[in-house]
Amino acid sequence: MNLMGIDLGGTTVKFAILAEDGEIQQKWSIETDIKDAGKNIVPNIIESINHRLNLYGLSTRDFLGIGMGSPGSVDCTKGTVIGAYNLNWSTLQPVKEMIEARTNIPFYIDNDANVAALGEQWKGAGEGDNNVTFITLGTGVGGGIIAEGKLVHGTAGSGGEIGHIVVEPDGYRCTCGNQGCLETVASATGVVRLARDMSERFSGKSHLKFLIDDGQEVTAKTVFDEAKLGDPFALNVVDKFYYYLGLACSNIANILNPEAIVIGGGVSAAGDMLLKGVEEYFFKFAFPQVRTSTKIKLARLGNDAGVIGAASLVRVQKC
Ligand code: ZN
Repeated sequence: MNLMGIDLGGTTVKFAILAEDGEIQQKWSIETDIKDAGKNIVPNIIESINHRLNLYGLSTRDFLGIGMGSPGSVDCTKGTVIGAYNLNWSTLQPVKEMIEARTNIPFYIDNDANVAALGEQWKGAGEGDNNVTFITLGTGVGGGIIAEGKLVHGTAGSGGEIGHIVVEPDGYRCTCGNQGCLETVASATGVVRLARDMSERFSGKSHLKFLIDDGQEVTAKTVFDEAKLGDPFALNVVDKFYYYLGLACSNIANILNPEAIVIGGGVSAAGDMLLKGVEEYFFKFAFPQVRTSTKIKLARLGNDAGVIGAASLVRVQKC
């Protein structure tokens, strides 16, 4: 039997057919058509599934189920999505009902950060452990918590909102309305914001400060690249970033004591340097028994975390 995983994003929809052990057999993608309030998105997905099943000579009976990760607020029991603004979905979308009606394959859905967490837990850095927390550092900061083998949704589906852990009371204003959330300093834009702000107070010689003062484009990658080259100001900026992320990780670990906190997303491309930096503060702040049992790791699946985690929803079959 096969599993199908779908990673629904604002620009592309990624699909994969996997064996039951999580091995990817086929992968493809289509563009996400977000015009007309995103009304073509689900019909296009259904058409693509049916087209590919034909192409590969597969039938609905070859599938245990289809899983999907979606942006927005997902009701995993009803299989609906609302408030996915990058898809132009502001009203309730009965995704499960539509897809099951036209594919005859059981369908499961959860939010994209939870799904990526499941992917890393199953086939990535989580190595199948029952307690894994995933943090993704991208345009925003997302998270997913698997505790005692189950995804944590919380009472209103807001469990695992790691990006909104406050790491600096009275810090920068966040999109959520609060101040000093992890997302304001550890997302791709957050790192740049830290750099710009700190550059005003740095008086030494620094190429990164020169780039900022000169009005050149500076991204999170620029900041980490300069730090790798030993730029003294860039090292100050990334140290502040490590402090915030290490503080958040220690608080998460003190509550959950997971086997691993897995860090993924674009900003995590900084790699081992980032891991070492975060670990330093994690060791400083975490409870002694937590410090020696919870590991901080880098994500391993990259772009595939979404489709693999989505397929994993079929295995879990509950939300
Ligand atoms: Zn926030």
